[in-house]
Amino acid sequence: MVLSPSGLSRDRACIRRVRYVMGTFVEIEVACEHQPQAADAIEAAFSEFRRLEGLLSKFIPDSPVGQVNRFGSGHPVEVPREMFDLTERAVRFSEKTSGAFDITVNPLMELWGTAEMKGILPRDEEMVSTLAKVDTQHLLLSAEDSTIGFKAPGCQIDFGAIGKGYAMDRAVEVLKRYEVTHALVNAGGAISCLDEYPSAIGIRNPLDAEDLLASVTLQNNSVATSASGERFFRIGGDRYSHVIDPRTGNPVHHHLVSATVIADTAELADVFSTAVFVLGLNRGMDLIEATEGLEAVLLRGYSSPFEVHISSGLKETSRTTPTNF
Ligand code: AMP
Ligand code: MG
Repeated sequence: MVLSPSGLSRDRACIRRVRYVMGTFVEIEVACEHQPQAADAIEAAFSEFRRLEGLLSKFIPDSPVGQVNRFGSGHPVEVPREMFDLTERAVRFSEKTSGAFDITVNPLMELWGTAEMKGILPRDEEMVSTLAKVDTQHLLLSAEDSTIGFKAPGCQIDFGAIGKGYAMDRAVEVLKRYEVTHALVNAGGAISCLDEYPSAIGIRNPLDAEDLLASVTLQNNSVATSASGERFFRIGGDRYSHVIDPRTGNPVHHHLVSATVIADTAELADVFSTAVFVLGLNRGMDLIEATEGLEAVLLRGYSSPFEVHISSGLKETSRTTPTNF
């Protein structure tokens, strides 16, 4: 996904900063004409990203998520209320997506990570025993104590498909506190637009970054993409998506090359882009059409030219251009 060159900066003085955080480059652009403290606002927004990385990263052993993953099967771990609330929402997202989105997916991520390291595919019995650990039913949540644990051994959580979106929403809130009214936050291609004026966002050919296949406009909302091309496990020369179908245990492998979802919040766009990517074209588009406030652009095919599928709300409002961006 790329920003239109005529985005926020078209007719306003802007400042833009890029930092590496949450495993990706995050770019924040703020219109600064009437905003002398724009640079402070941007730095405060980056601090918010870093704070949430410290809260939600499974790669930091002492983060609350790291601790839940290490100790949660023995006894529930007390976590900050913010993380508890996010976990409760994630469980509801699993229900809404028929299990396509599932934060308890981490044992499968580990299984495929080990397979990548060894260079051999997981064995059937490993797959069966790992799949048994993946289910939001295994979560032990106590709202009263703000604790998270697991009913079974070996369960773990992973906020990889929701954490960045949540952080983008929080960062936008920080910008608003600084009275910023025009901003774009681009976290590795997931984009939030804080602006009453629309910004055009291009959706690019996953095989050719120069080739823009569609465009959507953002206006006080967000877009995120889940795709097969960008992050993957490599085993025996083959590439396997980093998005796992929690129902089969296998990396997603089908006709969909990317699922782009537009929603009122970056959290929703993040969650539903992952879920739609798991579900595939028909069930994914059905979910989008059945869920108020979501729109999608799905690219289908194994090689260029890809088919571009657009949800009915986008077609009606002509907020997307299938070609000639
Ligand atoms: P995204 O790029 O937003 O689609 O998120 C992918 C990341 O989320 C992966 O790197 C995993 O950490 C995690 N993940 C993989 N599969 C799933 C899934 N089915 N549900 C929730 N999280 C997932
Ligand atoms: Mg996601």
